[in-house]
Amino acid sequence: MSDLTRLTAVEIAGLVAGGETSAVEVTQAHLDRIAAVDDRVRAFLHVDTDGALAAARAVDERRAAGEELGPLAGVPVAVKDVLTTKGVPTTVGSKILEGWRPPYDSTIVQRLRDAGTVMLGKTNMDEFAMGSSTEYSAYGATHNPWDLDRIPGGSGGGSAAALAAYEAPLAIGSDTGGSIRQPGAVTGTVGAKPTYGGTSRYGLVAFSSSLDTPGPCARTVLDAALLHQAIGGHDPRDSTSIPAPVPDVVAAARLGATGDLTGVKLGVVTEFSGEGAEPGVLAAFRESVDTLAKLGAEIVEVSCPHFRYALPAYYLIAPSECSSNLARFDGVRFGLRVGDDGNRSLEEVMQLTREAGFGPEVKRRIMIGTYALSSGYYDAYYGQAQKVRTLITRDFTAAFERVDALISPTTPFVAFPLGARTSDPYQMYLADLYTIPTNLYGGPGISVPCGLSDGLPVGLQVMAPTMADDRMYRVAAALESAVGTLTPPAL
Ligand code: GLN
Repeated sequence: MSDLTRLTAVEIAGLVAGGETSAVEVTQAHLDRIAAVDDRVRAFLHVDTDGALAAARAVDERRAAGEELGPLAGVPVAVKDVLTTKGVPTTVGSKILEGWRPPYDSTIVQRLRDAGTVMLGKTNMDEFAMGSSTEYSAYGATHNPWDLDRIPGGSGGGSAAALAAYEAPLAIGSDTGGSIRQPGAVTGTVGAKPTYGGTSRYGLVAFSSSLDTPGPCARTVLDAALLHQAIGGHDPRDSTSIPAPVPDVVAAARLGATGDLTGVKLGVVTEFSGEGAEPGVLAAFRESVDTLAKLGAEIVEVSCPHFRYALPAYYLIAPSECSSNLARFDGVRFGLRVGDDGNRSLEEVMQLTREAGFGPEVKRRIMIGTYALSSGYYDAYYGQAQKVRTLITRDFTAAFERVDALISPTTPFVAFPLGARTSDPYQMYLADLYTIPTNLYGGPGISVPCGLSDGLPVGLQVMAPTMADDRMYRVAAALESAVGTLTPPAL
């Protein structure tokens, strides 16, 4: 394996800017790595070899012309297949969009191009980002590089696995209930969910619009911060985008890397740090809490009594929004069309297309959501869940009056074997038990590797107030400076 694939984004950008290597060489090394390991990992749904090499050549030409390059110029990035890419297939892990080549770039992808990063391709995901293991992808599961018989998390398992397998130094994910942070935790990588509205949803295929948040994935906290800085900030094309600059997450990550947390007050969420998590996860978490205290942080216990209702509330709100959002996949406008033989009505063609195009989990969510929104049930289900959402937000607000940030394990358990939870949706949903409250509140959350349990990675989650994304980067970088990054066994 070429050494170039082991480098951080910061190191790669430095070498490219200094002329010690070229963006083309870096890109080729990653394409070679993908060719060598991805038949086993299956992180990618589509590798854009020509597009990547062309983008890399453009960076090398700009450098040769003496142009100033940005901090991530020439760095390869893998993009979750939930974001539209002009002319490059975008499936959202679903058969219903098989073959669709969007006519436009999402804002995130446009900003990646503007930053001079090199898009390697599109990564595997649970269909429409619904799932926690990437096993609900219509194109087959992704495998965890730490143990190929285990799940890489989900829904963004492809992006996380690509990082852990050294197929890409940076990746993009989207987090509706944990799909950036949970895959990060179980693959020993870093994943950050920005403040809702801090990153643009324009061109992000919608699952649950009040929760969906694109964000950065990387192998180090500083790399994630640089990527966050590059893709974040106001976008007039997204009506819920926050009209404010990105908090200085890069400076915060650099500050955290000094390993000094003096003056920082952290709250351990009582409800998420007791039983419910695997003993090995709790042990790694507890050890990290001690480490954070040694770095100077003041640690207190904070009870967030309504967090226990977050999972049921989420599984009403997210399906409700999805039942509406997914109505647009009707066999007329994009992708698959089934049964259009000239003899069938439009309605029949729509039914046949949706029957064939959506997988079982997506259908389950559409049915739950349609039921929860139907007249006579709306108040009891959707309305009630929205009230719980308000109570969870109040828990966060009260907590942040006492502490700067909250911490918990990212997930209750480490990567489980492929197939272990596919027949029981509730067991699958539990993977996001600790990540969902942040989505309902809208604040930022990050997962950073904090140790191993039986040889498998464990993540620690840092949750911060809305638009205080910088705080979580500082804490995560400080922990990383003490724990180090995790290296999976060689593939
Ligand atoms: N696993 C959760 C779900 O299935 C979260 C998914 C996500 O964040 N996209 O809905």
